[in-house]
Amino acid sequence: MAREHIRSWQVGDVKVSRIVEIWDFQDDIHMAMPDATPGEVKALDWLHPHYATPEGRMRMNFQAFVLQTPERTIVIDTCIGAGREREYEVFTDLPEGFLEDLASLGIEREDVDTVFCTHLHFDHVGWNTYKDRETGEYRPTFPNARYLFGKTEYEAWQNDLRHDDHHDDKHMIESVDPIVAAGLVDFIDTDHEIAPGIHAEPSHGHTPGHIHVVIESRGERAVITGDLMHHPMQCAMPHRHATFDMDREKGSATRQAFVDTYRDSGALVIGMHFCEPTAGHFVTASDGETWFRGLGIADR
Ligand SMILES: [Zn+2]
Repeated sequence: MAREHIRSWQVGDVKVSRIVEIWDFQDDIHMAMPDATPGEVKALDWLHPHYATPEGRMRMNFQAFVLQTPERTIVIDTCIGAGREREYEVFTDLPEGFLEDLASLGIEREDVDTVFCTHLHFDHVGWNTYKDRETGEYRPTFPNARYLFGKTEYEAWQNDLRHDDHHDDKHMIESVDPIVAAGLVDFIDTDHEIAPGIHAEPSHGHTPGHIHVVIESRGERAVITGDLMHHPMQCAMPHRHATFDMDREKGSATRQAFVDTYRDSGALVIGMHFCEPTAGHFVTASDGETWFRGLGIADR
């Protein structure tokens, strides 16, 4: 989208970079939490101004993360994709720019050796493929990569999700099926080691096979949430239901366990949909509540 939105963080030997496709999307909080109100958003002072508007609307990004180690180049989730027709206008016919942003990090698409999808929703698989201008066919964007899809997640999409009333499977046809057909997919277990020091962890609930990413290098630790949470407000009330969790009870339990694990742990938490500052820490505040302290935001 724009070079100025790229941010990088160093975790030991792993450089994590953010590529943003949709910047500062604003919507009602009930799009993340069905029973939350604008009043509750307004009342949490630490959400302002970074993660919420004065009117109590949430702010979020749609983005991907790139991990560079001395040996490997890994893309975590691949946004929505350019020129796609999607259910909502905000996601439809997005401009090119993702590959130019990648190039500005010194990475050509042929250099990527691994693509990892936390789950198979449309905003996490888009740039798995690009549309060939001449033939209109969707082709793998990263021809030299192994694409890692969760086995449980993929099977759920084959069995149920493609044919239920909630999901349109256009993104599967455009961004997942061509990768499978090209033989580029490894169907992985939920605790898969992606590279030395980088592994998946199960976080089912948002989708049946959702997985997130843990990075451990030289005594430092970071975690990329995937969609086990969408907005920083959820770390203050992880037990509350999330709108897009397919299994809301399980999603709440997963989120609670995740926040309990990473609160005051020193681990850098990188929120899949968190807007700037996207990375920070789950911290217990002086009032005993958990909050998300984005990097650069003062303690409280
Ligand atoms: Zn998402």
